[in-house]
Amino acid sequence: MALATVASRALAGIEAPAVTVEVHLGPGLPAFHIVGMPDAEVREAKDRVRAALNHAQFDFPSRRITVNLSPADLPKDSARFDLPIALGILAASGQLKSAAFAGLEFAGELSLTGELRPVRGALAMALGAGRSGHNFVLPAANAEQAALATGVAVLPANSLLEVCAHLAGSAALVEYRHVPAQAAPAYADFRDVKGQAAAKRALEVAAAGGHSLLLLGPPGTGKSMLAARFAGILAPMSQEEALESASIQSASNAGFDAAQWGVRPLRAPHHTASRVALVGGGSPPRPGEISLAHHGVLFMDELPEFGRSALEALREPLESGVISLARGTRQARFPARFQLVAAMNPCPCGFLGHASGRCRCTPDAIARYRARISGPLADRIDIKIEAPAPREAELLAAAEGEASGAIRARVCAARERQLERQGMPNALLGTQEIEAHCAIDAQAEDLVRTAIARLSLSARAFHRVLRLARSIADLASLERIGAAQVAEAIQYRRLDAAL
Ligand SMILES: [Zn+2]
Repeated sequence: MALATVASRALAGIEAPAVTVEVHLGPGLPAFHIVGMPDAEVREAKDRVRAALNHAQFDFPSRRITVNLSPADLPKDSARFDLPIALGILAASGQLKSAAFAGLEFAGELSLTGELRPVRGALAMALGAGRSGHNFVLPAANAEQAALATGVAVLPANSLLEVCAHLAGSAALVEYRHVPAQAAPAYADFRDVKGQAAAKRALEVAAAGGHSLLLLGPPGTGKSMLAARFAGILAPMSQEEALESASIQSASNAGFDAAQWGVRPLRAPHHTASRVALVGGGSPPRPGEISLAHHGVLFMDELPEFGRSALEALREPLESGVISLARGTRQARFPARFQLVAAMNPCPCGFLGHASGRCRCTPDAIARYRARISGPLADRIDIKIEAPAPREAELLAAAEGEASGAIRARVCAARERQLERQGMPNALLGTQEIEAHCAIDAQAEDLVRTAIARLSLSARAFHRVLRLARSIADLASLERIGAAQVAEAIQYRRLDAAL
């Protein structure tokens, strides 16, 4: 038989669409063509496959070899198709039986000596193979990650020879089974933070309902210290969230560390980070920091110092939980449902209102600085809170703050109430769900409307205030939202007028 097909998968964003590798051996002068792969990568793939087959003492057929990767319009980066191409050549030339490939998918880069090297996106590929009812043969170094997928047998191999032995029936590959324990996250504890009671309360409300938050205050007031502890009070990830988060990490350059299974990611990009690094992009498109923070926390210190286009790009994911990236004709969408925790100074020098009186910033300079946070972006940040310079008494107080564990217990209870009532955190409630679950009386509604007018908030701020009030009520185990919860929610929008 001079034709063989082998099942594999490409990586497009965080999806792994099926790819069929067809190998045809025809008459004519010996040649080796690969169709459907970027030219630059064809030569290297041919060299690796040829060398690996020779090294393993297989026959490299002296015929006209044509390899076709279909469909043609998928991104086919990297060397993941080395293994399926090599197997296709062996089957087409009669050195392996095609029937042995049934129900299996393959991916892996080959070294010149036929060792299998890991590929990106193993988890996404394993999930895809499982959905197709196939089992998945891949490099041993990818096994731990791929085995996080359920409904698929992951068969790790160290070399081309091991795969061939399995297919020939002489030595079966052993399925990799591993149920990872949820790792214990090692975040710093709120116990170390003295004072800042208002900011801590705001962080607790944000954690309970999944709201985004901005801390405004001079340098040295512990804004970063507060933010670094935020991930430690969040409710645990669901299995589904853990899998989605791991899939994205797995498609990134850094890859997924299985030891981080179930830990909410905390990403803290520097303000000099490029737009692509922050929101994703490139060719092929890779997830950026906002997607790596999916189901976790994105901490942006010195928010106004980030590039304008980077900041504006945050609006879509803050609203919808996804980011759409276009490059040429290619579109990619990555999940990006992160909780934004941002921090900024009150003025360019940072010391506006500080007791030292050292701020010399002009009103113009202050206005320009704050205007870098556009209205639509500020609108999407539910909580804004000042972290003032601590008073001397606070610094000297020996008392420790409340431990993260105690705060987390309240957050988890509040989150449970939300999931039981509406199946999602309050921050994700749509307009109709808000009507159903965030009802307030006429007096409280007046309070909100007046505040919106006074603070020049947008129309959508009404719903945002209600969602926030719902979270405050959930922390207090209240069935109905009362005036006190509405008033607290409005307090968190007070700084909007200053932005
Ligand atoms: Zn200043």
